[in-house]
Amino acid sequence: MSIELPALPYAKDALEPVISAKTLEFHYGKHHQSYVDKLNKLLPGSDFVNADLETIVKKAKGGIFNNGAQVWNHTFYFTSFSPDPKEEPEGKLRALIDRDFGSLDQFKGAFEKDAAALFGSGWAWLVIDEAEKLSIITTSNADNPIRDGLKPLLTADVWEHAYYLDYQNRRPEYLGNFWKVLDWQVVEERI
Ligand code: MN
Repeated sequence: MSIELPALPYAKDALEPVISAKTLEFHYGKHHQSYVDKLNKLLPGSDFVNADLETIVKKAKGGIFNNGAQVWNHTFYFTSFSPDPKEEPEGKLRALIDRDFGSLDQFKGAFEKDAAALFGSGWAWLVIDEAEKLSIITTSNADNPIRDGLKPLLTADVWEHAYYLDYQNRRPEYLGNFWKVLDWQVVEERI
């Protein structure tokens, strides 16, 4: 079974100026594609040749894990955006955010702070646990919270390749703008 690069649900220039077409050409067209290609080279003859991507993320190690998790993480990230996003969460997700972080603005501030502080390459996540408690966590490199039994609701890629063409070293500015294209409708549906 081979893993395919999913299509983006918007045009390459649809998220400008927050995320430029140039960034998507490289980040989606080169980086994401390359994780897919490397994974497909590693799968034949491995224990994961017939596994689905989530099983690979949960159980694999080494190169299969690194490339498989990066495929999963990037698909999750790219499908969170819309040129016409729902700007605020409602319903159950909004109630949980207000309960666990105080307010939507306090959540955003805490998420940006933790994501900006992550040393090196990785991901910042909003996750929900089995008791329906929300938390913000960061992971290094390809790591993914589903390995720890947590359900991801949203993520920000803070590898430099995610923002360097548009923001150079200004990771906090990228994170501040991230909310302008994040579609809370998608995030709500993941609960
Ligand atoms: Mn990336």
